Amino acid sequence: MPEARKPGCPFCGDISPGVVVYDDPLVYAIVSQRPINDYHVLVIPKHHYEQFIDLPDPLAAHLFVVAKHLSHAVRQVRPMDAICHLSDDDITGAGYNLVRHYKLHIIPRHVGDRVVINWNRDPDPGEAARSALAAEIRSALAKLGMPEGGLPAAGGAEQRTTSTK
Ligand SMILES: [Zn+2]
Repeated sequence: MPEARKPGCPFCGDISPGVVVYDDPLVYAIVSQRPINDYHVLVIPKHHYEQFIDLPDPLAAHLFVVAKHLSHAVRQVRPMDAICHLSDDDITGAGYNLVRHYKLHIIPRHVGDRVVINWNRDPDPGEAARSALAAEIRSALAKLGMPEGGLPAAGGAEQRTTSTK
């Protein structure tokens, strides 16, 4: 279990109530202190988890449901061209996070804004190469204990069968 609060972590410390847009026993959300655009919101677990994979499954699910509703609310506030949901896990400490406490960013986007997300995509490597990569990931999932047939759906989730040829 992580520490509930990590000394010196700004997201574990006291938050000015005026910037809080949402608060429940597990997560809270604030307007970003270092926004990319206006209405940039961070959804933050109250316990100090540093990476997405550290979140217990029920907390991860809860956080994404809260983020969905916050994203909907942000869209109501001001017209925007798109909305980005983004988070980086800084695995090696290379500087991908200003704060090493997991957070999900909700970022309104506008055509011509100063955000640069250049995916620099490669061309399609072909089905054989993609299948080899998929096999490696499936193997890793199996080693992590992912059950055959996947996780059971959360209550109320729509299910369908996906053809995997
Ligand atoms: Zn923290």
